Amino acid sequence: MIDRELVELLICLNCKGAVEHLEDEQVIRCVGECGYRYPVVNGIPHMLASEALHP
Ligand SMILES: [Zn+2]
Repeated sequence: MIDRELVELLICLNCKGAVEHLEDEQVIRCVGECGYRYPVVNGIPHMLASEALHP
């Protein structure tokens, strides 16, 4: 479980857009134009461009 306020502080490293937490998939997804998906490992978002999945 990730704190909602934490998610609101995160930004996409690629396009600097806002992100949302998809609890079912355990990913942080960019809601901006790039749509990068960052993995959540053991409840910790890995906001690394090298680990992001590109749509
Ligand atoms: Zn983005």
